[in-house]
Amino acid sequence: MKFNTKLIHGGISEDQTTGAVSIPVYRTSTFHQHKLGAEPKWEYGRTGNPTRHSLEQLIAEIEGGKYGFAFASGSAAIHAVFSLFSSGDHIIVGNDVYGGTFRLINKVLKRFGLEFTVVDTRDLKAVETAIRENTKAIYLETPTNPLLKISDISEIARIAHVHNLKTIVDNTFATPYNQNPLALGADIVLHSATKYLGGHSDVVAGLVATADKKIADELFFLQNSIGSVLGPDDSWLLMRGIKTLGVRMRVHQENAQIIFDYLKNNAKVGKIYYPGNPDGEGYEIAKKQMNGFGAIISFELKDGLDPKNFVENLKLIDLAESLGGIESLIEVPVVMTHSAIPRDIRLKNGIRDELIRLSVGVEDSEDLLDDLKQAFASI
Ligand SMILES: *Cc1c(COP(=O)(O)O)cnc(C)c1O
Repeated sequence: MKFNTKLIHGGISEDQTTGAVSIPVYRTSTFHQHKLGAEPKWEYGRTGNPTRHSLEQLIAEIEGGKYGFAFASGSAAIHAVFSLFSSGDHIIVGNDVYGGTFRLINKVLKRFGLEFTVVDTRDLKAVETAIRENTKAIYLETPTNPLLKISDISEIARIAHVHNLKTIVDNTFATPYNQNPLALGADIVLHSATKYLGGHSDVVAGLVATADKKIADELFFLQNSIGSVLGPDDSWLLMRGIKTLGVRMRVHQENAQIIFDYLKNNAKVGKIYYPGNPDGEGYEIAKKQMNGFGAIISFELKDGLDPKNFVENLKLIDLAESLGGIESLIEVPVVMTHSAIPRDIRLKNGIRDELIRLSVGVEDSEDLLDDLKQAFASI
């Protein structure tokens, strides 16, 4: 089965008892047991739910893994994955990962004795140099948020295997449509399914996939023990979203290319960050490991132009956090998603006050261009 067919027919594509083509929402906390102590397939809703299970099989299949796990949010998924490690273990983390991941690491996980070193995972030497005797894993995102930096997954996985480390990739920005980290050598792939997988800005969820039975057994134990599982209603909504991932991504990316071409020739725009930018630093690696360039574009306004006026003057494109929905969303990272990072660190990482992040939706590109044009004219 090819990818777009898998999105629709992959996992468990019809209800096992009724044949319903849309998997029903099994809204139940427990299941009747016919015989005492006979280890039934379904026993309790945290441990397993048929709707959630269908979703879990689906993410496993579309990420090219064998085992999938659904959580109440991307953050819950990340927490469960880090819970594979123990006090005294050391993990190498990319320096541009999601802000909430840094918060989880610094304010929660360090209190439990996990050790972390933050490195620029584009720099393979820096990754290798950071490895210690107690290092257990390398955790990264590519492309990153908001500067869309690209790291070479297969090179990092190669280094990891030499040193017997696990490679963990947050694949939220790329989506399985564009990038399959497991096929590139990663051991675990995870998602904030709140973004492109759900795709309609109406559900908060997290997903994990792996092909490794031992990791899967441990993750199942942790999912059931920690208990931050995705409910059956949200599991259903997410499956419905995933079915159209392919058609959505095609339009998202077509629109993003059109908007990139427009911004590139705009006198009021400075630097543009987009994995499909042929002059961009990560272009060759992106071309090698991704099937498409995604639909997030970050760009700076030229000096003296105020991003506040620009974003507030947009009429169609929503000023909002989050990304990956069918509607175009725009935000100013230093005021919104990245405001918690001290200004000097932010500037050192290349996130300037003039930076704007645009998540390109699936509207008609003419309307998006018209909106951008009138907002540029107003500044
Ligand atoms: C949003 C996001 C998360 C966190 O996911 P939630 O579903 O909001 O908990 C993690 N990683 C990336 C890259 C994200 O964009």
